[in-house]
Amino acid sequence: MRLITISHLKQLIRETGMDHFLRQNLASLEAAFGRWDEFRKSPRHATHYPQGVIELMPCADEEFYSFKYVNGHPKNTAAGRLSVVALGMLANARNGYPLMLSEMTLLTAIRTASTTALGAKYLARPESRHLALIGTGAQAEFQLLALRQVLPIEQVSYFDTDPRAMGKFARNMAGYATLIPCNSIDAALTDSDVVVTATAARQHNRLLGPGMIPPGSHIHAMGGDCPGKTELDPALLAQCRIVVEYLPQSLEEGEIQLAKETPVHAELWELVNGDKPGRQDPGELTLFDSVGFALEDFAILQLVYQLACDLNIGEEVDLIPSPADPKDLYRVLFSPPSP
Ligand code: NAD
Repeated sequence: MRLITISHLKQLIRETGMDHFLRQNLASLEAAFGRWDEFRKSPRHATHYPQGVIELMPCADEEFYSFKYVNGHPKNTAAGRLSVVALGMLANARNGYPLMLSEMTLLTAIRTASTTALGAKYLARPESRHLALIGTGAQAEFQLLALRQVLPIEQVSYFDTDPRAMGKFARNMAGYATLIPCNSIDAALTDSDVVVTATAARQHNRLLGPGMIPPGSHIHAMGGDCPGKTELDPALLAQCRIVVEYLPQSLEEGEIQLAKETPVHAELWELVNGDKPGRQDPGELTLFDSVGFALEDFAILQLVYQLACDLNIGEEVDLIPSPADPKDLYRVLFSPPSP
C-alpha cells in the first residue's frame, strides 16, 4: 500500500506544477460529476461535539472505493491548530485491498477550491474579474488559485475579522491579482462579480443578506457546512438560483437547512451533464451552497494515486499482510514451533 505524506504531496505538486495540478483536478472532478449515476453515494457520517464535528465521507464506483476522515473545529486556530484536518484512503473495489493512504488536509483545500471553480464555471458570468473573499483562513489562497483557472480574476477584495489572517493572505497572494484589503464585508462586496464566503464559526451567521450583493454576482458559500453552522441570511436564498452538490446532505448541512422550502435549481452534476442550464441571465444572483461532498475526495484521491504511480512518488508501507498462504494469517506473527 502506498503512503502519501505531506512531503510526498509537495514533491508531486512540485513535479506537476500547481496550476497544472489544479487543472487536472478540475478535469477529474468534472468527469466524476459527469458520471454521477455510476457512484454509490450517501450523506457523510457526522459525529457532533459542542466544539466541532468529525466526519467520515465514503464514495465508490465499480473500480475504486474512497473515504475521508475530516474534522471541523472552528476554535482550533486560537490554540494554534488548523480548523480542518483530514486523512484519505483509496481502495481497490474489486478485491477490497487498500491502495493508498494519503494526507488529505491539503488535498481537501485543493479539491474544495476546484469545486468552487467548477461551480463558478457554470454559474458565474464568464467575464467575472473581481473576487470578494470573506474569510482568509487556511482555505483562502486555494480558492483564488482555482478560480483563476476558470475566470479572468484580476482583483480580490478581502475581509477577515482577524487582521493577521488578512496579512497572511496578502503575503501569500502578492502578484496573483490586485489585492484590496477591506475593513468590512460591505466594502469587500463593492463592484464584486464573485463572492466566496469561507468563514469558520459554529453558529448561524448573516454575513450576506438581501440588497448587499451587486446584481449578476455569483455567491459561493462554503463555510456553512454543518447543522447549526451557516453564513447567509436565509432571506437572501429566495433571491438566488441555488445549486448544491448532493441534496440529501445539503438539506441538513448547507445554507438551505434554514430555508428548506426554497426551490433548489439543480445539483451540480445536472449542470455538468447539460441536463439543466447554469446561469441564465447576466443580472441574476446565483448561489452555490457548497458543503463538500465525498465525490470530490474520490476524484482527487484517484488523481493523486495515478500521478503517484506514474511519477513513482510515495512510500510502500506494510500495513496489509501478505502471507504466502492467505488462510495462514497466524504465520505473519508467529512461526510454528520447531518439531
Ligand atoms: P480557518 O479557521 O482557517 O479560517 C476561517 C477564517 O474565517 C478565520 O480567519 C476567521 O478569522 C474568519 N472569520 C470568522 N468569522 C468571520 C466573520 N464573521 N467575518 C469575516 N471573517 C470571519 O478555516 P478554513 O480551513 O479556512 O475553513 C473555512 C470554512 O470553510 C470553515 O467553516 C470550514 O469548515 C469550511 N470548509 C468547507 C469546505 C467545503 O467543502 N464546503 C471544505 C473545507 C472547509
